[in-house]
Amino acid sequence: MSDRMTEVRTIAVLGAGTMGRGIGHVAALGGYATRFFDPDEGARTRADETVRRNLDKGVELGKVERGDAEGALERLSFHGELGEAVSDADLVIEAAPEDMALKVETFRRCAEFAPAGALFASNTSALSITEMAAASGRPERFAGMHFFNPVHVMKLVELVRGLETSEATLATLRAVAERMGKEVVLVSEAPGFVTTRINALIGNEAFRMLQEGVASAEDIDRALKLGLNHPMGPFELVDLVGLDVRLSILEFLHRTLGEAYRPNNLLVQHVRAGRLGRKAGRGVYAYDERGKRLAGG
Ligand code: NAD
Repeated sequence: MSDRMTEVRTIAVLGAGTMGRGIGHVAALGGYATRFFDPDEGARTRADETVRRNLDKGVELGKVERGDAEGALERLSFHGELGEAVSDADLVIEAAPEDMALKVETFRRCAEFAPAGALFASNTSALSITEMAAASGRPERFAGMHFFNPVHVMKLVELVRGLETSEATLATLRAVAERMGKEVVLVSEAPGFVTTRINALIGNEAFRMLQEGVASAEDIDRALKLGLNHPMGPFELVDLVGLDVRLSILEFLHRTLGEAYRPNNLLVQHVRAGRLGRKAGRGVYAYDERGKRLAGG
């Protein structure tokens, strides 16, 4: 079974948060019967609303045909029981919180209910695919599928090969990602893959430059946008991602890859001060209650 491509018709998405919603959106739009699992009823409701809103917007902007959007909505279902969501899945994509113990436990339970031939993938930003693959009991049918936020807009999927991931699994997941409208880069498992690792380094260096007084936060952001063509400056981006999330990624990369990733002290201080970014109303910049950036903030 491991050396043949799997025919994927039904996809279960575990976790209907920020990323799960987007993955479900592109899966359903790609023609897959899509089953959301989330233990939190509120998250399921918000996912339903978000996917509808984003599909409507796609139609308004002329990016999605109305018939395709309607078809996608018909292919979606929401479940509070894991077994119900995965029992007929050909592929399970996990987008639960970034916590190895939780992911390992989720895949272990998933293996009890999913068909024996189903493929499993994790959307982890940085954790070990091989460790999750071992817990799933089907390491050759396990890989990373790293999507980007917002998933229905961002083009890339990093396809991550664990130690025992088979070629057939990679070929199947590449085809699925392409049917979701994505472009794929293949990455062998390494902490932070390509994007998370480079992004963490740029973000950390930006804090270091701010601390050294090389330039103001606004000017560092402007320099990267206007001089290097980055769509967002590193401080705008970290305020969006969350300074606490960035710090925990840097701590992980520091532990696994060494000194180059030691979290900058100014970043650590911001997190200690509760300046976690947009979600806290203040990060590197300040925001009003509606999330609009305050002048001079
Ligand atoms: P989130 O907190 O928005 O959503 C997580 C969802 O998982 C919540 O709705 C929660 O109720 C649900 N959940 C909790 N326990 C679960 C379980 N056992 N099984 C299934 N669902 C469960 O998180 P997110 O930002 O969507 O991140 C999800 C994953 O995607 C993480 O591994 C994260 O590192 C990765 N990721 C995030 C981003 C990003 O920009 N947010 C980008 C790429 C990858």
